[in-house]
Amino acid sequence: MTYIIQGAHDDFEVVIGLEIHAQVTSNAKLFSGAATEFGAEPNAQVSLVDAAMPGMLPTINEECIRQAVRSGIALGAQINKFSKFDRKNYFYADLPQGYQISQFSHPIVGEGVVTVDLEGGKTKEIGVERIHLEQDAGKSMHDQHPQFTYVDLNRSGVALMEIVSKPDMRSPEEAAAYVTKIRTILRYIGSCDGNMEQGSMRADVNVSVRKHGEPFGTRCELKNINSVRFVRQAIEVEARRQVDIIESGGVVDQETRLFDPNKGETRSMRSKEEAHDYRYFPCPDLLPVEFDDDFIEAARESLPELPDAKKNRFMEELGLNDYTAGVLVAEKESADFFEVLVDALAKKAGKDAGKVAVKASNWLTGDLFGALNKASKTITESPVSAAQGADLLALIEDGTISGRIAKDVFEVMFETGKDAEAIVEEKGLKQVSDTGEIEKIIDEVIAANPGQVEQYRGGKDKLIGFFVGQVMKATGGKANPGVVNKLLKPKLDG
Ligand code: ADP
Ligand code: MG
Repeated sequence: MTYIIQGAHDDFEVVIGLEIHAQVTSNAKLFSGAATEFGAEPNAQVSLVDAAMPGMLPTINEECIRQAVRSGIALGAQINKFSKFDRKNYFYADLPQGYQISQFSHPIVGEGVVTVDLEGGKTKEIGVERIHLEQDAGKSMHDQHPQFTYVDLNRSGVALMEIVSKPDMRSPEEAAAYVTKIRTILRYIGSCDGNMEQGSMRADVNVSVRKHGEPFGTRCELKNINSVRFVRQAIEVEARRQVDIIESGGVVDQETRLFDPNKGETRSMRSKEEAHDYRYFPCPDLLPVEFDDDFIEAARESLPELPDAKKNRFMEELGLNDYTAGVLVAEKESADFFEVLVDALAKKAGKDAGKVAVKASNWLTGDLFGALNKASKTITESPVSAAQGADLLALIEDGTISGRIAKDVFEVMFETGKDAEAIVEEKGLKQVSDTGEIEKIIDEVIAANPGQVEQYRGGKDKLIGFFVGQVMKATGGKANPGVVNKLLKPKLDG
């Protein structure tokens, strides 16, 4: 669906490009051996290099290089066997070096493409311009003392991948889908934990507007947006602001702005023209980064199956529909859970995975996701494991319990963590499939309801449902519905 911003005179289109900062998963920083764990005491993870003590020399952490290369491959991007680090000079209280070591002219990863998933099963390809590695800065803390600002350098020097998109997005939905997809892919391959609340992934969102068919307008950059929802909101508000300026005869200034989610507005931080001459030059402390095809191949081989490939496989081999497959692959943990569930169920039931996958996915996305949602738990915190889920579904498959009873059993499993079989045994929930026993109950029900029998025989076919209900009631829901249906009709038809 095209996203249009209506002005008083014209319709406008929004153009969006994103710079995503993703913290590289690594035990040590980009140029020092200091730890990177989130939540440590302020300044407990600062080496002399991170504190920029005079004469300290940075050393490149190979693991960070490897993770950037893996990320590039996963985003279908060009890997540059030659890249180098540059100094980007600017002053910040939380950047003690007075410059940031980044990559400018020769980034480690070049152009790539990401397929994003939109509403209604639609997709769109969004170009990636480049990925470069750089150091993060520390954090200024303004709320610790009435007169002073404190600084925590724990994050100073932590490796970031800056993933720069092409200006290919045309709606808040597309931008949100792009961030979501990048996050999913990085989490799959384990190069970034994607935790936006903790700041390990954040986005600078560039927004401009134009009338249809016109060249790109002047953009504003919205800094450090830390949730997918805010990405959407920030674009909506900023595009509206720019349209209003243009429609009232003004011009949009290129500037860096902050999005305030509480007020629902963006406001100016600094104008681009005056602030930015970074005087990039090659970092004299570091040699260029060079690696060979073997390094790239090893990185490629270390990648797991990626979400798009997994989704296709779930659809083609396991018969899931587009929507369900999409839901399951969105988080690697859900996809992993599903695969263990299907395998275990297929094995228990002695059937092909393709024969039980849809049932397994229905249970997982319906019953288990529903219960987890209600309990505010994630799939990794599920009190029912994939193997336990398979046991439950296998009991339905082999006719031990009905689907109806399985819902009750599941509830108890979720509450207590007990196995399905134990609960069925304990509560005497085994399905009754014995024809003799069921026949006896049917006879009783027929005898007890002569009026309904007469109406049925008089042509009111729908009443069969009433009799099924009565039989089920008499057996406490345990009668095998298939058997009931098979035996009931001939008896009623008399
Ligand atoms: P800078 O280095 O000044 O941030 P870049 O050329 O690297 O500038 O672009 C940064 C981001 O802005 C990229 O993601 C790009 O897609 C996006 N961008 C560039 N031009 C526009 C535009 N006219 N409207 C929206 N986004 C844009
Ligand atoms: Mg920028």
